[in-house]
Amino acid sequence: MSADLQAPKGTFDTLPPASAQFLAVRDTLTAPLRRAGYGYVETPVFEDTAVFARGVGESTDVVSKEMYTFDDRGGRSLTLRPELTAGLMRAFIEHRLYGGALPVKLWSVGSAFRYERPQAGRYRHFTQVDCEAFGIDDPALDAEVVALAVQGFRDLGLTDFELLLTSLGDATCRPQYRELLVDFLAKLDLDEDTRRRAEINPLRVLDDKRPEVQAQLDDAPLMVDHLSDSTQAHYDAVREHLSDLGVTWTEAPKLVRGLDYYTKTTFEVVHSGLGAQSAIGGGGRYDGLSAALGGPDVSGIGYAVGVDRTLLAVQAEGLDVAAYAGVQAFVVPLGAEAKKLAVRLVGQLRQAGISADTVYGDRGLKGAMKAADRSGATHAVVLGDRDLAEGVAQLKDLRTQEQTAVPLGELFDQVRATVTR
Ligand code: AMP
Repeated sequence: MSADLQAPKGTFDTLPPASAQFLAVRDTLTAPLRRAGYGYVETPVFEDTAVFARGVGESTDVVSKEMYTFDDRGGRSLTLRPELTAGLMRAFIEHRLYGGALPVKLWSVGSAFRYERPQAGRYRHFTQVDCEAFGIDDPALDAEVVALAVQGFRDLGLTDFELLLTSLGDATCRPQYRELLVDFLAKLDLDEDTRRRAEINPLRVLDDKRPEVQAQLDDAPLMVDHLSDSTQAHYDAVREHLSDLGVTWTEAPKLVRGLDYYTKTTFEVVHSGLGAQSAIGGGGRYDGLSAALGGPDVSGIGYAVGVDRTLLAVQAEGLDVAAYAGVQAFVVPLGAEAKKLAVRLVGQLRQAGISADTVYGDRGLKGAMKAADRSGATHAVVLGDRDLAEGVAQLKDLRTQEQTAVPLGELFDQVRATVTR
């Protein structure tokens, strides 16, 4: 039978057993945030379109070309979130979290949607881990956030990644720099499209990957050479804290991020095993975002890490991150009496916090043992009618095939003790 309904273009299903790797990556990436006092936030997968139009920026590709925007039945313009930061900031403002203790440190994880041209590592539905620290402008906080992003990758065992770091200045120095850059770009030989881009957001041209553009940018003025005294001091302090935290980085003075609202510290983490879509995470400080969304003038710093792309990086490095995916014990009943006992034993084990499973339907010994092997269990409990008549069950170590008879009265305790040993 061939399926005439398929997952939409640019999306995919994550099925067991591979999904265990996905969960392990997702959870490992969020663990450093939980350890650092960040609180979990859940926001809607769709928001008022204005949240992204204003919070991501009208000039970005994400807003101008990639959003899933629709009118609901009540005529409201809604958009599936293309990233998580704007929604978290909207919640921060709506619930007046800025009135409490600062910084407000939050994290979230979930689906994001962008109508992009699908290719390896670039999807229309993907999962992001998101970290935000709102309300305080302190270089030590920038360093904390950057270090947390890096920690997640380290905890997965990844080594072939690089932290790219720069400062994008702020309102005190970026406007003057922007003029210098516009003047410089005006003298170059650029196509119409790029010229238009240079007018809307000249910094984006620095990030143009095409060799014919890059070749002309060698002498381009760089933001880091034109920082004001205060942004320079901020950037120096961030780097000092990062060194103290044992984080290494590469200076990336031409790094520009896709979203409009970044200021000061800006970073990206790239992995060398991924081809064109090499960014596994990125973020930075965005001191104008709250105000753009109608909130008070508070600062923020955060990052987003792509779970799907990080999983590709894990696979590229040949790492096995799902240490444990199956159940601990598998119960094999042979016969009607045994079935009742199996259902009861599995229930007891699960209540005691031990993962257990059994077979359903009439599978026979061979099929049941195959299911036991596939389950990932280290131990099987075989309940045969003849054994039961004698008051015992067989506890089998599936790794060594060793088998011991256990009196039924001791079965639960013995299974529990054996699989948790
Ligand atoms: P961004 O919000 O664009 O800064 O992206 C943050 C991270 O999300 C990137 O570093 C990627 O790992 C991931 N990401 C962004 N867009 C996609 C996509 N279309 N498919 C898969 N992952 C993505």
